[in-house]
Amino acid sequence: MIVDLRSDTVTKPTAEMWEAMRAAALGDDVLGDDPTVMELERVSCELLGKDAAVFVPSGTMGNQIALASATERGDCALFEEEAHMLYYEVGGPGVIAQVTTRTCPSVNGIMSPAEIEKRIQVTSLHTPGTTFIGIENTHNRAGGAVVPLDLLESYRDIADRHGIWLHLDGARMFNACADLDCEPAAMAGSFDSVNFCLSKALGAPVGSVLCGPAPFIQRARRWRKRLGGGMRQAGLLAAAGLVGLRSVRPRLGEDHQRAVRFAAAIAGAPGLDAQAQTNFVMIDTRRAASELCAKVGERGVLCMAFGPHRIRCVFHYDVNDEQAAFAAQVFRESV
Ligand SMILES: *Cc1c(COP(=O)(O)O)cnc(C)c1O
Repeated sequence: MIVDLRSDTVTKPTAEMWEAMRAAALGDDVLGDDPTVMELERVSCELLGKDAAVFVPSGTMGNQIALASATERGDCALFEEEAHMLYYEVGGPGVIAQVTTRTCPSVNGIMSPAEIEKRIQVTSLHTPGTTFIGIENTHNRAGGAVVPLDLLESYRDIADRHGIWLHLDGARMFNACADLDCEPAAMAGSFDSVNFCLSKALGAPVGSVLCGPAPFIQRARRWRKRLGGGMRQAGLLAAAGLVGLRSVRPRLGEDHQRAVRFAAAIAGAPGLDAQAQTNFVMIDTRRAASELCAKVGERGVLCMAFGPHRIRCVFHYDVNDEQAAFAAQVFRESV
C-alpha cells in the first residue's frame, strides 16, 4: 500500500473531474472566449464576493502577479517571516514586481496587528512606502495554521487607515473556511485581492484563481500574458477546477478529522510528537527527520522532512481511513 502524504498536490483527478474535462466546452482563453474558463472565473467571483477573476497556471503566478499589479517598483511589501510568497517563490517580489520587502514575526504563523503596524513605512524622500501586505491562510510553514476572522478584520482596519493593498495568499483558504465554519466570502471580504489554489486540497490537476477589483484583474491579465501564463484551451483545466469547488470543497472537513486521528495515534509513541492543524500534521521526532522519512518510505508511507527533526504529513481525498491508520502504525513501528 502506498500512502502519499507529501502534499495535497499529489492527488489525481476524480472520476467526476475526468468526465467534466472530457465534456468541457473549449475556446481560446487568450482570446477571451473559453466558456469553461469564463464559468470558473464567474463562479469564483460569486463564491468570494469579488468583481473579477483570472485563471492562472499556479498559485505562485497568482500571488506574484497580484503583487506586481498592486504595487509600483521600489514600494515596500510586508509579509509574515515565513510566508510562502517570500520563502518559496524564488525571490519573485524582487524579480517580478521589483519591490522591497519587510517581514513581521508571528506566533505559529499568526501576526498580531500591533506588530504589523510597527513595520509600516510611509513614503518619504528616504523610505519606500508600504503599499502591500500579504496574509497567508492557512499558513503553510506554520503547519496549516488558521488565522481567525476577527484578526483578518483588524488587518483590514490597518490597511484602510494606511491606504495599503491587502492580499490573501489563500492557496488553502477553503481549509481555513472549513475549520472556521465560515463562507469563503466572509473571509475574502477583508481583502482587496485573493488567490486560491485548485490544485491543492481541491484536487484539480492544475491552476489557481486570482480575484479582485476589475481594473486590478485587467492589470493582472497583462502580467499573466507577459510571464507566459496565457493558456489557450484552458477550459480543460478549468473544468476540473469547477468540480473541485463544487464536489471536493464540501468534504475538506473529513481530511481535517483524519489528520486529528492520525496525530492522536502517533503522539503516544515514544520519541514522537504530532500536532494536527487543518489537513496538516507536523511530527516532531528525536531522530533525524530525513532518516525517519526514508524508513517509513520503505514501507510505502511518503512524507516530507520539514526541518532537522520535523516531518510534515498532508491529508487529502486520495488518503482514506485505512491508509491513515496504516501510516500511523508504520510511524509507530519505525521510531
Ligand atoms: C502551494 C502554495 C502556493 C503556490 O502554489 P503553486 O501552485 O505550488 O505555485 C502559494 N501559497 C501557499 C500558502 C501555498 O501553500
